[in-house]
Amino acid sequence: MRKKIVAGNWKMNKLQNEAKTLVNQVVDLLQNSNLSDDKRVIFSPPSLYLESVSLITNKEAFISSCSQNIYFENSGAYTGELSAAMVKSVGCEYTLVGHSERRALFHETDIILAKKVSCAIVQGVAPIYCCGELLAERKSKKHYDIIQAQIEGGLFHLSEDEFSNIIIAYEPVWAIGTGETASSDQAQEMHAFIRGLVAAKYGNTASDNLTILYGGSCKPANAAELFACPDVDGGLIGGASLVAEDFVKIIDAL
Ligand code: PEP
Repeated sequence: MRKKIVAGNWKMNKLQNEAKTLVNQVVDLLQNSNLSDDKRVIFSPPSLYLESVSLITNKEAFISSCSQNIYFENSGAYTGELSAAMVKSVGCEYTLVGHSERRALFHETDIILAKKVSCAIVQGVAPIYCCGELLAERKSKKHYDIIQAQIEGGLFHLSEDEFSNIIIAYEPVWAIGTGETASSDQAQEMHAFIRGLVAAKYGNTASDNLTILYGGSCKPANAAELFACPDVDGGLIGGASLVAEDFVKIIDAL
């Protein structure tokens, strides 16, 4: 069954008390929302707060926590890094892999991301694999090639069984934090393209069951239109996930 998901990526924002307040406010506001096993909410706080956020979300049936990043080894001399096993041990069920900021600022390649994806799956942490093209790549009409390379490079080493753990987030880099959103037609086109790639590699059942999120300046004002697209199964939300009322309005648009 394909799940609909709204995930909030807080990036490097919020102090500890603010993080607790935000997650509690959202959980309180969600008491009136009709979440169910096929409609989930995910919080991706800074790793320092993963345990305290997980303690709150794990009491809720359809709300989960997500790491913003993991390293591709389980333990060892990797100063400053966190493993999938570690985030799992504090109650975290998901991890972002390959957010465009990690690709651009921390030089993460598809080869590195493929290892992170595998490590997460082995530890029972579901990867939310991010892909997206730059503005120049879209303008030069290379966006489909770029997305295909990112999907193949980061994910297509997986077996069909392993792939069933994957969530994909399509986040055009030119729309992240810019206030510029992809139109619903642009989002639908690319999501359908991604689903087609997955169908060709893993078959129709895998592609029908795959959740594909849209990310990039998604807000209360445009969420419903984006989520109404047949291949858009929810959103990965940055800025608007930092304000409880806005985040809940986006969730209610699912
Ligand atoms: C993101 O960083 O994943 C994102 C989608 O950010 P924003 O919603 O702020 O564009």
